[in-house]
Amino acid sequence: MLSTSYTIRSIAQILHAEELIVTDGAITTLLTDSRRISNAAEGLFFALSNRRDGHEFILEAYEAGVRNFVVSHKPSSPLINANYLVVGDVLKALQQLAAHHRQQFDLQVIGVTGSNGKTIVKEWLYQLMVPEKSIVRSPKSYNSQIGVPLSVWKIGAEHNLGIFEAGISTVNEMERLEQIIRPDIGVLTHIGSAHDEGFANRTEKVQEKLKLFKHCKQLIGYYDELVGYKSQLEHLQLFTWSRSFREADLHVFSETIISKNYYLRAHYNGREIEALIPFLDQASVENAIICWATMLAMGYEPEVIDNRLERLVPVSMRLELKNGINECSIIDDSYNSDIQSLEIALNFLDQQNQHSKKTLILSDIFQSGLRDEELYRQVSVMLGNRVSRFIGVGEALAKQADLFNVPEKRFFHDTHDLLAHFNELQFNEETVLLKGARNFEFEKISHALVQKAHETVMEINLNALLNNLNFYKSLLKPGVKMMAMVKAFSYGSGTFEVANILQYHKVDYLAVAYIDEGIALRQAGITLPLMVLNPEPAAFDKLVEYHLQPEIYSFGLLDHFLKYLQQNDIVNYPVHIKIDTGMHRLGFETSEVESLCEILEQNQLIKVVSVLSHLVASDAEQHDAFTMKQIQRFEKACKQIEETLKYQFIRHIANTSGVTRWPVAHFDMVRIGIGLYGIDAAVTDPNALQPIATLKTSISQVKHVKAGETIGYNRNGSLSKGGRIATVRIGYADGYLRAFGNGIGCMLVKGRLVKTVGNIAMDMCMIDVSEIDVKEGDEVIVFNDELRIEELARQIGTIPYEILTNISQRVKRVYFYE
Ligand SMILES: *Cc1c(COP(=O)(O)O)cnc(C)c1O
Repeated sequence: MLSTSYTIRSIAQILHAEELIVTDGAITTLLTDSRRISNAAEGLFFALSNRRDGHEFILEAYEAGVRNFVVSHKPSSPLINANYLVVGDVLKALQQLAAHHRQQFDLQVIGVTGSNGKTIVKEWLYQLMVPEKSIVRSPKSYNSQIGVPLSVWKIGAEHNLGIFEAGISTVNEMERLEQIIRPDIGVLTHIGSAHDEGFANRTEKVQEKLKLFKHCKQLIGYYDELVGYKSQLEHLQLFTWSRSFREADLHVFSETIISKNYYLRAHYNGREIEALIPFLDQASVENAIICWATMLAMGYEPEVIDNRLERLVPVSMRLELKNGINECSIIDDSYNSDIQSLEIALNFLDQQNQHSKKTLILSDIFQSGLRDEELYRQVSVMLGNRVSRFIGVGEALAKQADLFNVPEKRFFHDTHDLLAHFNELQFNEETVLLKGARNFEFEKISHALVQKAHETVMEINLNALLNNLNFYKSLLKPGVKMMAMVKAFSYGSGTFEVANILQYHKVDYLAVAYIDEGIALRQAGITLPLMVLNPEPAAFDKLVEYHLQPEIYSFGLLDHFLKYLQQNDIVNYPVHIKIDTGMHRLGFETSEVESLCEILEQNQLIKVVSVLSHLVASDAEQHDAFTMKQIQRFEKACKQIEETLKYQFIRHIANTSGVTRWPVAHFDMVRIGIGLYGIDAAVTDPNALQPIATLKTSISQVKHVKAGETIGYNRNGSLSKGGRIATVRIGYADGYLRAFGNGIGCMLVKGRLVKTVGNIAMDMCMIDVSEIDVKEGDEVIVFNDELRIEELARQIGTIPYEILTNISQRVKRVYFYE
């Protein structure tokens, strides 16, 4: 029998690696990210290099308990008790190991590729076939050169079906993925135009994708797209669908909408069959049809498929972070409950520093294919010491209570039972992760835990934030540091919620405007170095107590601070020196640098960690000559200070548009503010940045008004022909400024732009919905990625910064992470 348990020694053989093994031991987990270490004792860390050399992270992984490493060169000084496998190419080794693992199993495997819809189709095929199959599938959209091997590694003896997605962005990538996945059944979702940049033309892209199906017996796809490639696909059995071609195996000939469902009729195998899909948008309908076709091709009865399609649920893998009762943070994930998505949710929990107490509320997990004892043993290993309290809901978990080694644990028969004891659980100042299978109705627990929200909310997309962070990182030369500006509640986007992500993803510095803002972040567990732009002398005690680093911008402030340090016997305190190169706001004049140097010389009380200045108009071409002058003045001042201090410090001057437009201004560090939040006019690629915020509200009342009647305060509004208005729950106290009134501002209702009518009031305002069918409670978008903040700023003649930072704290923030 083939063995699928591995030791570091057996893996060395599989990889033909040069081995430096101190002690042999079992390997069960593959690790590629030093920030996400789980099950370290049986983990194998691959030092993969992309933006940074993966070997830099070995020490961090080692400190987290990992002892096994795959590296591309022999360590000069091996870590104690660590095993190394030295290979030519670390990524290839990861892929080779996964391919080997795949070969040990003869389960049926579906490989899904295409330009859009891969993840949805994969998740839906899972939902549709899980009643009788034991399925392993790619987590989230793990479909890359790294994601695919990590997915395939999850195959176990208990599985009889694998569903894996493969994504490529350029030529010669699919062959490697094919070797790892080795699908028997291929599913091609849709070819579309996404990611065209990596290919010479469309044919090249299609040809590359088709390589996934090289060893397949069957391929399911869209007739209209595949018909041109028939000769290439002769080795396999094609199963196609189409709306227009009768030759397709599944010919959809009728589509109607029946009470919020999409009703399809089709010809199949000489008969007429039907399906009801609980979605109306075209993308969902096409994804559902491809699932329909796949199941027919696999031999399912049309009636069974129809029955299951009707119960498809949306694929939303997003985790929501919300404010809860008693200062709790609530992470809501009631999308699905299986062991793979539990790991993803626990990772997000790991990133939260705001409370030391972390609670997991977990329901029974169904359809894992494992015996309960083995399943919950795996869950218990995964938990490690990541949670301080475990609350299990369900009969199966209750039976395995002994397996859980957590400081505090409680078990309940069902959700109702938990709610009956809700008060005893005393949720207070903790982060609570809710992870329940759908039929446990954890939304009831969520309802009890989450603060009731005023119906206007600002949604913050943390993935978009991360995307923007990585975009700016990609513009920097290696070694250039990044300071993230999180002043003014991260430009209105949040406090620790944003800082947690930035800290986890290793920005080098944070900056806030005031000491209070810094204290709030420290109290929420943020440990990154923090610069304070405007440190007030009255709070120096707090500044020092919370390890905040002041920006020193004048002789007066310097003098105050030096006296303070002397009186308190503090030496070597880190400070940042601000030079005024043209802003005329804060900073030492360039003419004052010489006198400044006299004070700094020999001074032991402070340590200059950085010297900075600020650009006045880095975004404006008409001021480019002035910007250049600022950069030169800054360089000169830095030289003067360097000669005095005789040690190195960090030099930084570039803000967001300074980074995009002025590579010469990057120096040793850059300070990114508005760009992180998705706004930067200097970025021309429309897909490079993503707006992170959506502000939405809702309709509280709809009214008919006649011509001649007036609307709102001071009788400023009217509809010349009469019509219908909606009152929405946002006003100037929420940050929707009065300037937007009387038709200057627009909102999006059901995808259509509508104008404001009359004056904006404190808590609400009116919009003209004469042309749209709306009712109370309908959603209204104030801004999102379609109606952008830049557009709102333009309407009232201000800048996006002001729109963002004006959204008041009364508006609840909800955070999403996928
Ligand atoms: C706010 C601020 C920034 C960030 O500017 P953006 O244009 O938002 O990137 C940088 N430096 C200083 C000193 C700031 O006050």
